[in-house]
Amino acid sequence: MPFAATQPWGIFQNGSGKDVNRPSTMGRRRLLAGITGGLVALAAGRVEALQPPPAPIGTGHLELFAPATGERLALDYRRGAAGRPDDAALRALAHFFRDWHQDATGPIDTALLDTLSELQRRVDGRSIHLTCGFRTARTNRSAGGERNSLHLSGRAADIRVPGITTSRLYRTLLQMEPGGVGLYVHQGFCHVDTGDVRHWEG
Ligand SMILES: [Zn+2]
Repeated sequence: MPFAATQPWGIFQNGSGKDVNRPSTMGRRRLLAGITGGLVALAAGRVEALQPPPAPIGTGHLELFAPATGERLALDYRRGAAGRPDDAALRALAHFFRDWHQDATGPIDTALLDTLSELQRRVDGRSIHLTCGFRTARTNRSAGGERNSLHLSGRAADIRVPGITTSRLYRTLLQMEPGGVGLYVHQGFCHVDTGDVRHWEG
C-alpha cells in the first residue's frame, strides 16, 4: 500500500495550502507529527510499517452557553475534508463571544475555538459555559483586566463546565497546553487563552 505512506500529505492536497486560518496549534502539531512520521518511514524504507495517519481535523464541534445572556450555540465551525473554518459559523461565534456590556463584537481566534472544542471532547461533550469572551478596553478596565489582556483580541475565554470542578477543568486545560491557563477557584471559572504557555492560580 504505497499510498499509505503519503496519506498525511493528503491533508495538504485536499486543501488550498494557503488557508492561514486553518492550522490551529493542535492541528499544526498533528500535521507535523504526521509529516515527520511519513518522512522518517520513507527514509527508512519501511513503507508497510508506517504509523496510522494522524486523526482527521475535527469538525470544530462546540456546544456553548452564555449565562449572562441565556444564549445557547451548538455548531460545527469547520467544513469539508480540510476542516476549513466556515465564515457564517465564525460570525455566529464572534457574536456569541461579544462584549455583552458594550454590545460590541470583536475578533475570534480559531485556535481558541479549537482549544474549546478539544476541551469539550475531553469533558465528555458537556456544554461549556462562557462567562467572558471578547472585551472592549472599557469593559476590560472595569473588570480589572490586564492592559494587554488577550480578551481584547478575542484570544481568551473565561469558562466553567457544570459537572466538572474548576480544579479538574484547570488540570484538563493544563494537559492541553493551549497557551495561558488560569484557575479562579473562588469565582468558579478558568481562564484560557492562546498566548504564551503559562499558568497561574488567581
Ligand atoms: Zn480571562
